[in-house]
Amino acid sequence: MPIRIHRRSFLRKSVAAVAGAWAAPMIPAWASPAVRPLAIFAYGDVELLPSPLKEQFDYHHRLFLNLDEDRLLKVFRQKAGMPAPGEDMGGWYDLTGFDLQHNDFHGFVPGHSFGQYVSALARSYAATGDQATRAKVQRLVKGYAETLDAKASFFAGYRLPAYTYDKISVGLIDAHEFAQDPIALEVHERLTRAITAYLPEKALSRAEQRARPHKDESYTWDEPYTLPENLFLAYQRSGKVFYREMAARFLEDDTYFNPLSEGINVLASEHAYSHVNAFSSAMQAYLTLGSEKHLRAARNGFAMLSEQSYATGGWGPDEGLIEPGKGRLGESLNKTHASFETPCGAYAHFKITRYLLRVSQDSRYGDSMERILYNTILGAKPILPDGTSFYYSDYDANARKVYHPDKWPCCSGTLPQLAADYYISIYLRCADGVYVNLYVPSKLRWKTGGAVFELTQQTKYPRDHQIELRVAASRPTEYTVYLRIPAWAEGEPVVRVNGRRVSNPVQAGSFAAIRRTWKDGDRIELELPMTLRLEAVDEQHPNLVALSCGPLVLCALSKDRPAFERSELLRAQESSDESGDRIAVASEGSRIRMRPFMGIADESYNTYVSLKT
Ligand SMILES: [Zn+2]
Repeated sequence: MPIRIHRRSFLRKSVAAVAGAWAAPMIPAWASPAVRPLAIFAYGDVELLPSPLKEQFDYHHRLFLNLDEDRLLKVFRQKAGMPAPGEDMGGWYDLTGFDLQHNDFHGFVPGHSFGQYVSALARSYAATGDQATRAKVQRLVKGYAETLDAKASFFAGYRLPAYTYDKISVGLIDAHEFAQDPIALEVHERLTRAITAYLPEKALSRAEQRARPHKDESYTWDEPYTLPENLFLAYQRSGKVFYREMAARFLEDDTYFNPLSEGINVLASEHAYSHVNAFSSAMQAYLTLGSEKHLRAARNGFAMLSEQSYATGGWGPDEGLIEPGKGRLGESLNKTHASFETPCGAYAHFKITRYLLRVSQDSRYGDSMERILYNTILGAKPILPDGTSFYYSDYDANARKVYHPDKWPCCSGTLPQLAADYYISIYLRCADGVYVNLYVPSKLRWKTGGAVFELTQQTKYPRDHQIELRVAASRPTEYTVYLRIPAWAEGEPVVRVNGRRVSNPVQAGSFAAIRRTWKDGDRIELELPMTLRLEAVDEQHPNLVALSCGPLVLCALSKDRPAFERSELLRAQESSDESGDRIAVASEGSRIRMRPFMGIADESYNTYVSLKT
């Protein structure tokens, strides 16, 4: 997030504007969605079995469990004038450079990611039941609460109050919801009532923010339009109506959700992550208020995003959304190495695809989620204990995976949150059974009508095209297992139950529904045909293509962008060694290794290769 703002003069205006804003009811009567969405299983209903997802989760769970609490709380204690032991965190996190006279980009959103680390730990506790994790969440909430005064003075003169409040908000509501923290909800309410003094009176688009008078020529990058998702969740978890009213006020309808709901593409030049994250606020407006307009806005907005996505599923070169139909995505390949803000973008992408899948039962949202999973976030370099973090994926030629120069950036907050959310993204629950959305080694346990069920998934997918699910049941019960058949699985996807092929045809781009009386020991096998295909970056650049196989984009391990005939790429053969690579041979005889992003360490790679014309 390239931020450059001075916000003091703006604050003076907005403080007066919001005074007394709690009184007026803003919302029409409660309305529930017409169709019941798929439900989320509890984090603890799912166990991850050995896989890259589990490795990523375990690593980051351990890292944040071991992070020193004094260091995490230091900036809040310093600002409160309390003893503040421990080393500075460094990077974006510290008070260093907090002086607004400084034009220093480093350390100017103090404590910004504290709430995300608390959220990630709370979700990790819910997933694992690890008591040390729960105890840490409770100590952090207690430590934070001690620094919070009635005016939330920490935010006086703070550059990005909405940005950081939103993250503390999710930390506190998750500590309450997932780690049963006894004070988190009360602390959240105190903070929220006080924070309004530092926020504008309603959601402001970036254009509106820029239009407000400033003493200097700089502009603000605060993001009040991202607040509603967590405020709606706070309402659901607390029952307090003021959260619902505040959430509605911060929905960015005028310049964003209204036009999106009418199919007008207003994405161009908006900040990518935060505007995609705002789709989840629209989904919560639908789920909480029954607002069909916001469902349409999220659906249309996501469809427009998909039209400007790379083959990896990533989007937002230089953190900006682009004008459609102009070849801007192809142009970006030679302009920037900052192709996709990976942990934050993948986190927002998982949330919106999970919401849209839940309300639509449309398998394409699951396809989109797995594309982002395997081609972006699972290939992110791990966060190091000193806060060094992976930020951008690079789709330019001669790309390398590099760490961001600043420690503890935004992406250090979203990565552990997303890794915990793997637990709630694999399976979804409906009235008549279970949706299997991701093919990941895992075990699901659930209860229905006094009976206990398990579904155990074993697979090397996406390295392999076969998936096996085993059923355990305390008594035979009729229900439906829905298997996502990806849209790319053209050819003949095969489903077998106990070795016998199911008679109904299995359609790519849908969920295959298998209804029967399931009993202990039943076995489901799924085979998804994975053929090589080429995806051009956009219509204006038909000769810049990514080679894909199933959900995986295969990157060329080379410095310069290699050039192939179409047929040469589509004949890429599996390597004879254990690497799982494919080898593409160009007509001049050069042999280029092709490997998924998550298999790349420090080699030079090209996500896109050239087609010879
Ligand atoms: Zn980020």
